[in-house]
Amino acid sequence: MEKSKKIWLDGKFVDWDKANVHVLTHTLHYGLGVFEGIRCYKCEGDGSAVFRLNEHTDRFFASAHIAQMEMPFSKDVINGAVKETLRVNGLDEGYIRPIAFLGDGSMGIYPKENPVRVAIAAWRWGAYLGEEGLKKGIRAKISSFTRHHVNVSMTKAKIVGNYVNSILAKREVVAAGYDEAVLLDTDGYVAEGSGENIFIVKDGILKTTPLTSVLAGITRDSVIRIAGDLSMKVIEQRFTRDELYIADEAFFTGTAAEITPVREVDGRKIGDNKPGPITKQIQRAFFDIVKGKNKKYGAWLSRV
Ligand SMILES: *Cc1c(COP(=O)(O)O)cnc(C)c1O
Repeated sequence: MEKSKKIWLDGKFVDWDKANVHVLTHTLHYGLGVFEGIRCYKCEGDGSAVFRLNEHTDRFFASAHIAQMEMPFSKDVINGAVKETLRVNGLDEGYIRPIAFLGDGSMGIYPKENPVRVAIAAWRWGAYLGEEGLKKGIRAKISSFTRHHVNVSMTKAKIVGNYVNSILAKREVVAAGYDEAVLLDTDGYVAEGSGENIFIVKDGILKTTPLTSVLAGITRDSVIRIAGDLSMKVIEQRFTRDELYIADEAFFTGTAAEITPVREVDGRKIGDNKPGPITKQIQRAFFDIVKGKNKKYGAWLSRV
C-alpha cells in the first residue's frame, strides 16, 4: 500500500511509521474493535469531498455501541479528524480507515480497565477489485464458509473479529481462481460478499438481501436511493444461489468495491458475461454523484 505521512491517533497526529501499539493491545488478541471504510473523491473543478461522512460516523458509533465500547471522542471530533487527516496528508482522494480498539491493560476476555483508543488513517487506494473489474465485471464464487449467524456475531456492526470469516471466504475463492466470494446466510440464502453487499437484476427489477443478517452498507443504501430516483424498482428480499445464477445482471456494492459488476458466479455466466445496462447506469450515476457532478445529491458530500 501507499504510505501517507501522518495518522491521527487518540487525538493527535503521529508519523505513519510511529503509529504503533503495544503487543498486548486487547483487540489484537480477541478481535473486539470496530472500524469504518470511507472514501474521498476529487470533485470536478472544485476540491474534494468525503462521501456520506455523517452516515459513516453514525455507523462507526453504532458499531461501538453494539460492541459496548464507549467512544472517547464526539462525532464532531471524528468528522473533523477525518477531514484533517486528508488535509495533513495532502490527499485529494483516497480511502479513510477509522478504527476504535481496546488498548492494553488487562488480558482475558473480560476487558475492564482497557482504554478505548481511536485511530484514523488515510491513503491513496484505487479500485478495490481492480480497474478492469469495475469496467468488465468480476468472477465470484459461493464460499463454503457461511456468513455469521445473527446470534453468533453482530452483523450490523463492522466488528474487527467478524472479518476472520471474510478472510477465510476470500482466500478460499481466490485459491480457486475467482476474484470475490459470495457468502450464504445460515439458512442457505445469498447474504453478501466478503466486504460488499450484493444486488441482482431480473426483468428490470433490482433485488438485494434484506438487512437481517448483512451489514447495512451505505453504498447499498445509496444504490437503492439512486435506483428509486431513476424510477427503477428495488425489492429487499432473500434470494437463492440459483436465482443469482439466472439473474440478468449482478453487482457488488461497498465503499472499497464501489459498484463492481459480477459477470460470472460458480462457472456460470451472468447475463451476457459483461456488465449489464442497469448496472452500468447505476455505476455511472454513482460515480457522477461522488465526484460532485450531480448537484441533487450535494447533501451526500462533505467538502474537505
Ligand atoms: C463495509 C461492508 C459492506 C459495505 O458497506 P459500505 O457502507 O457500502 O462500505 C458490506 N458488507 C460487509 C460485510 C462490510 O464489511
